[in-house]
Amino acid sequence: MAPRNARPSTESTDPGLAPLSSLPGVGPALAAALERLGLACVQDLWFHLPLRYEDKTCVTAIADLRPGDRVQVVGSIEEVERGFRYRPQLKVAIGDGAGHTLQLRFFHFRRAQLEQLQPGTRLLCFGEVRQGAHGPEMIHPQYQRIGDGEAVAVEERLSPIYPTTEGLGQKRLAGVVAKALALLPGDAQLELIPGALCADHGLTSLRDALLYVHRPPPDAALAQLVQGRHPAQQRLAFEELLAQHLSLKRLRAAVRHRHAPALGGDGTLQQALHAALPFRLTAAQQRVTREVMADLACPKPMLRLVQGDVGSGKTVVAALAALAAVESGRQAALVAPTELLAEQHLRNFRHWLEPLGIEVEWLAGKVTGKARQKALARVAEGAPVVVGTHALMQEGVAFAQLGLVIVDEQHRFGVQQRLSLRDKGADHGSGLVPHQLVLTATPIPRTLAMSAYADLDVSSIDELPPGRTPVQTVAVSNARRAEVIERIHAACRGGQQVYWVCTLIEESEQLRAQAAEVAHAELSAALDDCRVGLVHGRMKSKEKQAVMDAFKAGELAVLVATTVIEVGVDVPNASLMVIENSERLGLAQLHQLRGRVGRGAVASSCVLLYQPPLGQLARERLQVMRETSDGFRIAEKDLELRGPGEVLGTRQTGQLAFRIADLARDAHLLPAVQQVGERMLAKNPREAERLVMRWIGASARYAQA
Ligand code: ADP
Ligand code: MG
Repeated sequence: MAPRNARPSTESTDPGLAPLSSLPGVGPALAAALERLGLACVQDLWFHLPLRYEDKTCVTAIADLRPGDRVQVVGSIEEVERGFRYRPQLKVAIGDGAGHTLQLRFFHFRRAQLEQLQPGTRLLCFGEVRQGAHGPEMIHPQYQRIGDGEAVAVEERLSPIYPTTEGLGQKRLAGVVAKALALLPGDAQLELIPGALCADHGLTSLRDALLYVHRPPPDAALAQLVQGRHPAQQRLAFEELLAQHLSLKRLRAAVRHRHAPALGGDGTLQQALHAALPFRLTAAQQRVTREVMADLACPKPMLRLVQGDVGSGKTVVAALAALAAVESGRQAALVAPTELLAEQHLRNFRHWLEPLGIEVEWLAGKVTGKARQKALARVAEGAPVVVGTHALMQEGVAFAQLGLVIVDEQHRFGVQQRLSLRDKGADHGSGLVPHQLVLTATPIPRTLAMSAYADLDVSSIDELPPGRTPVQTVAVSNARRAEVIERIHAACRGGQQVYWVCTLIEESEQLRAQAAEVAHAELSAALDDCRVGLVHGRMKSKEKQAVMDAFKAGELAVLVATTVIEVGVDVPNASLMVIENSERLGLAQLHQLRGRVGRGAVASSCVLLYQPPLGQLARERLQVMRETSDGFRIAEKDLELRGPGEVLGTRQTGQLAFRIADLARDAHLLPAVQQVGERMLAKNPREAERLVMRWIGASARYAQA
């Protein structure tokens, strides 16, 4: 926490910092439930924003119900049925008296409830309408009984629905929020963004914005609120994005504050590699290499993201960086997200570095027993270059003097993991931390990169090596599968190599493997004079490697694979790819997969097999794939179609879980967020700190540690 001595008078009277137990009616049990939500002081409740709203301001006629609506309905109970067949179920039919009925279904219910629900009773229900077997239904609706002749009381305004936790109902939570809001001070005290900056960027009253989102007035535009586009929401989204930006910037400043070994090197090993390579670096590779080398030569930890489309040649840039570390007497580690990819790096690195007399150590999860002991010992003794998977980040791996960590395919790692690697490499004797180079093949739209990676510098390899011919892409219905197989046959006879990718998403690895086995059998039978190989995630890593090697050596004409080949696999002679069920994959994944072909000089093509009928989104995706092979355009489009959580692959890791902001929707705010952020960091660091605490609280405290 910040020292409190600067302006004790304001802060000690800041009602926002009062503990929640100071609110009337908040006892230990309620305080504990709120604590589970990360809510500790009054201001935490001010900024505990509704997830969405329910409209209980009117009643919808049963005759007008449409599936998907979340609405309020009134009706009289016509029939009650208890089913016991498979599990207890309570079905209550309510009607409007004019022949229209709505079925309410409950799977958990109490005896007391049963007794209340007698035919003839009038109910006011709220829930989501679904299309049931016999007309509209609601599963577990909220409901209350209305007495005979009693008027139906509807809400005056939209009801906010807050994120909550087990044992804390919406009503109770809304009640405490209301008590906290009663203490909301005026803007003079609440606002942390300096007045001049607010004026420059047209930022309106924060107090009004908070009151609006917590208690939208009766006439609020629901559609606008639902989309998060109301000015009050946009005002808060601005502030949330600003808080996130400031916290990443501070995180970065904290790391940059530490010391790293200066890896200037003498260039001898790098020159030797340049001389041995069968190609010249592209201008983009040279520029990015220079940027990386300049960072490495400084005694401050590098934090650099190198983004470059599939096939743009990031690996060799990484190898040169590793050599700079070795030239300076330090170790370099390269970490990849999958074993297949790590193995491929291992082979590349060994191929390039061993002729220069540099040992490359291998450390993956599957390296066990004696081999592992030996590898660990070598790493501890100072093996110059180590390649591996996540295992490298786990406990028990000690480096002699790690100077550089290279992380490939960063979009699969979260900020947390980046931090853990950094700490892993910290040399506690000397206080030195390693430099960090992050490689990603998922081009990130600039707007997103600015926000999501504000803790990193970004270099782009925006040019492909010469001689690549663009991949011709077509979308073909599965009804024409036989034709496609015929085409493969012709291609194989002509000496080309083919990938056949089986995709099953959200199924088990086992099901995926089975699907691949089925396709393998089908193709083996159809292409009787060609050798067809199979690789999937359930195979042992040795087996996988043997198949990949055979394919690379040209011994196999066709490789049937699951999406394990998505990243990193490099077989330049493969020039045709068929992707099954392509309509089910996201753009980023399709782009990655397609990047496996078009790596050599031969003209390549990609067949996107799909199962008709195509939905609207799927149709758009396939269209984008046919139109462009520019990873940046595809990423922009992906962002548009899917949203940033998916694009960044962060949905699981929970980072970038905003309360109100949405990077895709609110990207237009980012340039102003950056400007305000820079100014505040320079001129108002105290307010910046408080702003981060307000929005990010505990996690920011962690990141600072
Ligand atoms: P990615 O950026 O997708 O990781 P790689 O580093 O795997 O790409 O490079 C793809 C292929 O291009 C590899 O076979 C690599 O050896 C080759 N390559 C890299 N740089 C060049 C270059 N400047 N000229 C020709 N080929 C190159
Ligand atoms: Mg790569």
